[in-house]
Amino acid sequence: MVQEYEIIVIGGGPAGLSAGIFVARQKTSCLLISKDLGGQMNLIPKLENYPGTLMSSGPLLAKTLESQYLSFNGEIVYDTVQMIEETESGMKVKTSRSEYISKSIVLAPGKVPNNLGVENESTFSNKGVHYCTKCDAPFYQGRVTATVGVGGYLLESGILLSRMASKVYLIYKGGALGGDKEMIASIEKKENVQLVPQSSIKAISGNNTLQSIVVLDNSGKETTLQVDGLFIEMGSKINLDFVKHLVKINTKGEIEISEGNATAHPAIFAAGDATNIPYKQIVAACAGGATAGLSAFNYIERLKGKPGIRADWKKTIGDTIFHY
Ligand SMILES: Cc1cc2nc3c(=O)[nH]c(=O)nc-3n(C[C@H](O)[C@H](O)[C@H](O)COP(=O)(O)OP(=O)(O)OC[C@H]3O[C@@H](n4cnc5c(N)ncnc54)[C@H](O)[C@@H]3O)c2cc1C
Repeated sequence: MVQEYEIIVIGGGPAGLSAGIFVARQKTSCLLISKDLGGQMNLIPKLENYPGTLMSSGPLLAKTLESQYLSFNGEIVYDTVQMIEETESGMKVKTSRSEYISKSIVLAPGKVPNNLGVENESTFSNKGVHYCTKCDAPFYQGRVTATVGVGGYLLESGILLSRMASKVYLIYKGGALGGDKEMIASIEKKENVQLVPQSSIKAISGNNTLQSIVVLDNSGKETTLQVDGLFIEMGSKINLDFVKHLVKINTKGEIEISEGNATAHPAIFAAGDATNIPYKQIVAACAGGATAGLSAFNYIERLKGKPGIRADWKKTIGDTIFHY
């Protein structure tokens, strides 16, 4: 028999877990389906910028959010969602092992950073090799770094690192930097940034942590650079094949959301890195998840003819409306 829930959340990262907490706490039957617990938080051994916590880690925050969700009687299944279909009885969610029905869905499938594809890359992940410059550049104050990547991601990485690191090698395949002209002009003025054009990274090495990289240029010349940190900014993958027929997806492959984390489908809400929000960070994913969860709850309350939760507390004094 197909199991039914009022709301199904897809994704066990900070957005999905936060959505689940806000849904389950309203005593609404909620199933969270995810390939894993934590998503990208598993790539963060040292988490410094999640408000209200000191010296945390991504996996610890994931476990705390999971416990919080389960404490409100939310349910979790570790499985992969393969397709969502609209049926007469509701939204049918097909996973690799089962099928479920719900009245509303919160999408929080996040994204996965692209690798460079160099040997040893995973060995030095978080031991000198990083995939999120805005997250990890602050760990490299006064140290020597390199960044490799594509387009705007590379430019942003170079600018962020140049504010922290003593030296930044900016490595790219083409002859000229591509992207925003103002950003390129800003990079070219930085005294601590050395442009390394027409080059790629051939090897990564070190002991316990990264110590050096070998750069190969178009003429075949190899140069070894001593670096403390290598930032890989090759973009990321968002896989929305299972839902692309139901929601609107922008040119960057992200789900378009509007106020209340609504998508183009009235029964589907979305949050986190898979959506068109700026500043993709954990606190933003949690906030989006909470909003999407409450919007999904309100959607099913209204189906039952109930008013739901107020989205905005207002008080009018004289001619002025105060929002709380
Ligand atoms: C290396 C690195 C370091 C970072 N450091 C920081 C930091 O210090 N501070 C900070 O605030 N942010 C940091 N970030 C960014 C932060 O991790 C993300 O913004 C955040 O995790 C996004 O949350 P999310 O829930 O939207 O997606 P994700 O964390 O990507 O989670 C998505 C979840 O959905 C699941 N999923 C996907 N598709 C399916 C499917 N079809 N079926 C079932 N499950 C599915 C995945 O398995 C995963 O569990 C970092 C990111 C990276 C890559």
